[in-house]
Amino acid sequence: MPDTPSRPLSPELAACPHCDALHQRQPLARGQVALCSRCATPLYESRSYAPLLPMVFVLTGLLLFVIANSYPLHYLELAGRVQASTLLDGVVALWQSDLWLMALLVLLTSLLAPLWVLLALLYLLWPVWQRQPPPPAAASIVRTLSLLTPWSMSGVYTLGLVIAIVKLRDLASVMPGIGLYTYFAFLLASIAAQITVDAALKRRLLTLDTRQAGGQRAAGVAHQPALALPPTAREAGLGLCACCNLLVRMPVATKAALACPQCGSLLHSRKPASLSQTWALLLTAVLLYLPANLLPIMTVIRFGQGDPDTILSGIQHLLENGLWPLALLIFYASIVVPMMKIVVLSFLLLSVQWRSSWRPKERTTLYRIIESFGHWSMVDIFLISILTALVQLGTLSTIEPGSGATFFGLVVVATMLATQRFDPRLIWDALEQSP
Ligand SMILES: [Zn+2]
Ligand SMILES: [Zn+2]
Repeated sequence: MPDTPSRPLSPELAACPHCDALHQRQPLARGQVALCSRCATPLYESRSYAPLLPMVFVLTGLLLFVIANSYPLHYLELAGRVQASTLLDGVVALWQSDLWLMALLVLLTSLLAPLWVLLALLYLLWPVWQRQPPPPAAASIVRTLSLLTPWSMSGVYTLGLVIAIVKLRDLASVMPGIGLYTYFAFLLASIAAQITVDAALKRRLLTLDTRQAGGQRAAGVAHQPALALPPTAREAGLGLCACCNLLVRMPVATKAALACPQCGSLLHSRKPASLSQTWALLLTAVLLYLPANLLPIMTVIRFGQGDPDTILSGIQHLLENGLWPLALLIFYASIVVPMMKIVVLSFLLLSVQWRSSWRPKERTTLYRIIESFGHWSMVDIFLISILTALVQLGTLSTIEPGSGATFFGLVVVATMLATQRFDPRLIWDALEQSP
């Protein structure tokens, strides 16, 4: 069982999650964001909302989610026949094509994770609103939120829904259904709910501290590195919780795993085995990248005829049909982004292993870029799922998914996991150890 460390220290200090630099919190004007003085990662901001506001967004989002799942996303009309498809149809179509791994991935990222984020927020916000202590298992729920939020991809799915209409333009006429509009509104409500759960409110999800909440509403805090402080949290004997951002004392001598006193997550001053795990996941992604690009991802069958398309040949067909903005978008999401993630992560891993002191701030920015854009590669997977469900008109026209799509989905998962396992603070450790 992990030990619980001594009392937290977070109110006056802030540690950067990307370079571990320690900062003294200072008041900030309303709307300002405090950036890390070393690597420019946002540390905290002065936003503050009452719990009622995110509650309204969460409830609206849940209502919209039910509607979005009850009505068709698209209607496809071809030669007098009309086909409609819902969100779940996309998952079922993949499952029936024996691509069950891909079906589960689409189910998790487009439906289950976005739904769980809203349900968890509702469960945690209700007692805050009622000024009651946190509900049972609040810490576990907060941990699942931190785990599942990166896999909630309703934004990417919405892009897939719009692309499907453009892509099918030369095949049939496609009309957006109520499901598409409400899924888009659900996305907006989810974003609003997550934005309005600010740092002060997040703390209150786990602790009943009304005094602290009142104080947070008044001003907000600002960053400024205090010269008297040791440069990093680790040197000061502190550790930042990756789940709830609490800064806690971490005795250097102890070998036992420490648990965050606020959310119960295991605390590490650096992610354990970060380099070896990132390498392993990255090499897996590189190996999967070959079949993902060589095997067909989709076959469009018209009047009983059709050739399987790989990612690249699909882009080529889009260009031939004059849909070059769409071709560029798919090229960027399916070829450039995964390649960029593989190249950037390899570069970061090698630079850390060679103890390079070359441009640490720029390397940290590179990491932030692949961390925030990596999941957009999923758009091709979503598109295949949407098209497979929608274009099911027998001999007239049918779209079948190919096994390359499963490999591509696994590339996206492996690169996302590799990015999560990499610890950017290692970039800065080499600098501190050099004279
Ligand atoms: Zn930093
Ligand atoms: Zn924590």
